Amino acid sequence: MSYSADKKIVIAIDGYSSCGKSTVAKEIAKQLNYIFIDSGAMYRAVTLLFLRIGILNGKDLNMSALPEILRFIHITFAFNPATSHNDIWLNGENVEQEIRQLSVARNVSQVAAVAEVRRFLVAQQQEMGQSKGIVMDGRDIGTVVFPNAELKIFMTADARIRAKRRYDEMLARKEQVDFEEILANITERDRFDETREESPLRKASDAIVLDNSHMTRDEQFEWILEKVKERIIQT
Ligand code: C5P
Repeated sequence: MSYSADKKIVIAIDGYSSCGKSTVAKEIAKQLNYIFIDSGAMYRAVTLLFLRIGILNGKDLNMSALPEILRFIHITFAFNPATSHNDIWLNGENVEQEIRQLSVARNVSQVAAVAEVRRFLVAQQQEMGQSKGIVMDGRDIGTVVFPNAELKIFMTADARIRAKRRYDEMLARKEQVDFEEILANITERDRFDETREESPLRKASDAIVLDNSHMTRDEQFEWILEKVKERIIQT
């Protein structure tokens, strides 16, 4: 079948930290000529800003300053031809690399648990999906952002396998990394994301589970593409 068909759907990919959601979501979007949005990058960008201006100090978040600061946050995505990646820009600055640092990863779940932050970002995410033809990955995409998405996937994998993949990625970027620290970070983020009150990470009742512990990237891609075909035919 042809993927350039006029019928565009919304694809929501949720799941645990470091499952490779963004990697596969990006490939699917490219194949279908859809927009790809990494919603986690948006929470990371807000966290980076909070750390920079000091309203988050590694432990406490100054809630009284929040409404004023949120008004001055402008997040956009722009295609980077050098990397073929949709980089995230925060107030006119490309922060794609900086948001991947462990300092941001350590604090992002705390920021993502704040209702005001979620409302602010979810509104923008919903706006991005208005015309359909979008693949968005995150934690609450199928449950909150796009509850009517035509295709919902919930990704999971063994925690040690996920940590190893993240470890290899960081080593390849020549970053100083400790495997146990990465494992602790992803396990802690999962726990935090699953137990928070605001839009906790959970599988939507109509999502299909993809456990990719022992799957290659190509296998995951083909698996999802198959589901997309089914949905496009059905809807
Ligand atoms: O996807 P990524 O690991 O970059 O997301 C970073 C963090 O942002 C997650 O651990 C989670 O706390 C938060 N997040 C969220 N809702 C989303 C996407 C990410 O709470 N839709």
